[in-house]
Amino acid sequence: MSALLKATDVVKHFKAVQAVNGVSLEVRAGETLGVVGESGCGKSTLGRCLVRLTDLTSGTVEFDGQDITTLSRRRLRPIRKGVQLVFQDPYASLNPRRTAGDAVAEPLRVHKYGDAAAIRRRVAELFDVVGLTRAHLDRYPHEFSGGQRQRIGIARAVALSPKLVVADEPVSALDVSVQAQVLNLFADLQEELGLTYVFIAHDLGVVRHVSDRIAVMYLGEVVEVAEAERLYDAPAHPYTRALLSAVPEIDDGSGAPRRERIVLTGDVPNPIDRPSGCSFHPRCPVAQARCRTERPALRVVGERQVACHYPSIGGNVAAHGTLVVD
Ligand code: ADP
Ligand code: MG
Repeated sequence: MSALLKATDVVKHFKAVQAVNGVSLEVRAGETLGVVGESGCGKSTLGRCLVRLTDLTSGTVEFDGQDITTLSRRRLRPIRKGVQLVFQDPYASLNPRRTAGDAVAEPLRVHKYGDAAAIRRRVAELFDVVGLTRAHLDRYPHEFSGGQRQRIGIARAVALSPKLVVADEPVSALDVSVQAQVLNLFADLQEELGLTYVFIAHDLGVVRHVSDRIAVMYLGEVVEVAEAERLYDAPAHPYTRALLSAVPEIDDGSGAPRRERIVLTGDVPNPIDRPSGCSFHPRCPVAQARCRTERPALRVVGERQVACHYPSIGGNVAAHGTLVVD
């Protein structure tokens, strides 16, 4: 599969805050790339860099073979149709005084989709697509539930038939039962519209079932990238293992050994005061002297990429006797 989006060494600093610190990744056409990591690790900032909602401090982003890193607003305009963002809280991005129909019509008007009748038809069609009814067209944001508001946000995002949708924790604010419905909608739309997704979440539980591949972020860096199943079955980076151990497991009665529980110790990471060497070393249960001084590059190890001097390969966690196991 070819890369629809290619990020190379993306850096985004807000003065002293090193929010994103050298991320390289590819998003392949038609896939869902999950991006996970603790709150504050730079997921949203990375997402905004990927769609050029914010300027990069350094690095490049190529979309569909075109370098969009420094395109002017005017030259970025046609690109904007092809890359859309879905936010965690659609309420914050919806104008309370405009109807849902108006909200979905807005991107169509901005990009001169057609005359008023054509836009009305397209909006009605989009409401069908995301599972809202025509009766919802004239209602205001406060009249909708959280799940319905997210459907409005999704309708806006897909209105112009984008190629890539970056969804930034789109179900984090929703009840668990509603989360499943909205995740299903994302899956259905991907199939119907041939969409490519970057799906951001703070826990691995949510992205597992929607992602083809998963990138794990820690303190502004990508520390592991692998196919979803591989990442779950045999996480190589100690941080991935720690994240996974926090995902509730279902006892299937098979007597299979339960995943170890890893307790992260040390200070919560602070992007202003980045540790030397490997950013994860102060909390890492397997860190050695080298990890305190030498930053590990993201490198190919077997069928994955991992940024760790001592990755666990083939699920060989037992080799690391110092893991804190519950
Ligand atoms: P995440 O989405 O993973 O929770 P963010 O990308 O929102 O992380 O934030 C990463 C870091 O960058 C945090 O320390 C956050 O406080 C900081 N940050 C994000 N946006 C800004 C901004 N506009 N100005 C200053 N700091 C910011
Ligand atoms: Mg965020």
